[in-house]
Amino acid sequence: MNIILMGAQGSGKGTQARVLGPELNLVKVATGDLFRAAIAAGNELGQKVEAILARGDLVPDELTNAIVRERLAEIARAKAAGEVEGALFDGFPRTAAQAEALDQILADHDDRVTVVIELQVDPEKLVDRLSKRRVCANCGAVYNLEADPPAVAGVCDRCGGALVQRDDDKPEPIRRRLALYAEQTAPLLTYYGQRGLVEQVDGDRPIADVTAAIEVIVEKRTQTKVTR
Ligand code: ADP
Ligand code: ZN
Repeated sequence: MNIILMGAQGSGKGTQARVLGPELNLVKVATGDLFRAAIAAGNELGQKVEAILARGDLVPDELTNAIVRERLAEIARAKAAGEVEGALFDGFPRTAAQAEALDQILADHDDRVTVVIELQVDPEKLVDRLSKRRVCANCGAVYNLEADPPAVAGVCDRCGGALVQRDDDKPEPIRRRLALYAEQTAPLLTYYGQRGLVEQVDGDRPIADVTAAIEVIVEKRTQTKVTR
């Protein structure tokens, strides 16, 4: 089973992926997280992509496809060993070239995309959600100042770390990212839609309601029961 979460920045893909990954025994493939980890580690990839992320631009397809190819090779091994069910994509693919590469990589492992979940949120709300997002500098936990605030302002509930704003959650990069979504990523809904793979979910509801709606779709598409 390979599930793609699609939707603009701020639509809640990451939030849903954190819940659904463990529940469905899928390995999360979140390219943004992989890039941020590379930046934090200060490795070669991190040095290449740091300025790109800060601007809100897209990392070149070759670099992005290469890390996904590596991750999927590991996931295919774990799947063959019966340890996981597949992959859950958050933030990938974002361009036509990435979608084509993903089809090819999965085919190389005799696998394919199972379903594409489109999280729909009113564009006006996206900017608001993104500008209120805070992340823990220590453990990466994600908060929203309005929808999901920490118990103590500026402090992570889980680890006590400091909450910070991502560089790309400032107004200018937010605009850039949303424009790139509309221009490069939204057309993928047609690419997958032509194959009957897209299911729409109203993302403008409480987190648990969105999760429940996705679970119903997964059950329908895979003919399996999700254990909650
Ligand atoms: P968001 O979806 O809110 O922008 P992410 O954490 O998914 O947050 O991505 C952060 C940044 O990482 C993007 O703005 C982009 O620079 C880079 N990135 C993530 N995924 C991709 C991708 N598939 N292709 C190119 N760049 C990507
Ligand atoms: Zn923390």
